Amino acid sequence: MPKRFYLGIDMGGTHIKIAVVNSEGKILEETMTDTDVEAKPLDIAVSIVEKARGLKHYSSVKSIGIGIAGDIDCFRGFVRFSPNLPKWKNVALKSIFEKLTGKNAFVDNDANTAAIGAFWLDAKAKPDSLVCVTLGTGVGGGLIFNKKLYRGASCTAGEIGHMTIDPSGLRCKCGNKGCAETFIGAKYLSAYAKELLKNRKSEIINDLLSQNNSKLTPKLLYEAAAKGDKTAVEVWNYAGQKLGILLAGIINFVNPEVIVLCGGISRTGKFIIEPAKKEIEKRAFASASKVCKIIVSNYTQKLGVVGAAMLADQ
Ligand SMILES: [Zn+2]
Repeated sequence: MPKRFYLGIDMGGTHIKIAVVNSEGKILEETMTDTDVEAKPLDIAVSIVEKARGLKHYSSVKSIGIGIAGDIDCFRGFVRFSPNLPKWKNVALKSIFEKLTGKNAFVDNDANTAAIGAFWLDAKAKPDSLVCVTLGTGVGGGLIFNKKLYRGASCTAGEIGHMTIDPSGLRCKCGNKGCAETFIGAKYLSAYAKELLKNRKSEIINDLLSQNNSKLTPKLLYEAAAKGDKTAVEVWNYAGQKLGILLAGIINFVNPEVIVLCGGISRTGKFIIEPAKKEIEKRAFASASKVCKIIVSNYTQKLGVVGAAMLADQ
């Protein structure tokens, strides 16, 4: 059987990645364009399609998949709202792309496309069940169940960043209090570190902050922890503990074979994973946690675009 090709489009807040991917999840060609947040949906789509047509395998592409952050109606291919493109409201993205290209198009949340990407790129054994947790500005999740993306009744399955970790926690942008995201989302981690530093000094963090006028970001906190800074390690222990509470709940509920952690904060590796594993040991069923492999994605930058392309394999 000849290989089928799909076009993946990963619409981020600053860049849009575009790739032709084969039916084994391998990128054959890729390109990108900047995200113009002021542009109208049709104009952005036209510029994406122009770029895609420049790829030499484009004419062999069977269908198109698009991943975008936000509240997506994946059944109708509607973007109800996207934080990356705040001016968009109820955009019929699927039909815009279908009219422009004459090919079938599919649209889904970027955490879901990341989960599909993790299934193809990180989970070589193609497990029946996989949960992908995106740790970045927000905390996203996607669930592969019976080797397929599980979407739920209204396409919002996998919103694990908004599961309550502490009912008396901070107010989240979703309206709830104490969501996982309010503990392990990037800006909340920075705020937690700032709070700790009110009452103590850290030479390592101060040195890093003075280099190029840096900000107290998770990346800087990772560098500080790698240099042995106690406060930074404390921040990661705190984040890891909260992540562990979240993962223990997921392990008990889904009993997944694999959990893939991706996104910028997952690069902290052992600093966040070790405390998370300790927490899982305390909270999850031993039989479930024993069979669950927790890995950090090796393909964080590619998960979205490959997952978007493989979304189109339907
Ligand atoms: Zn929330």
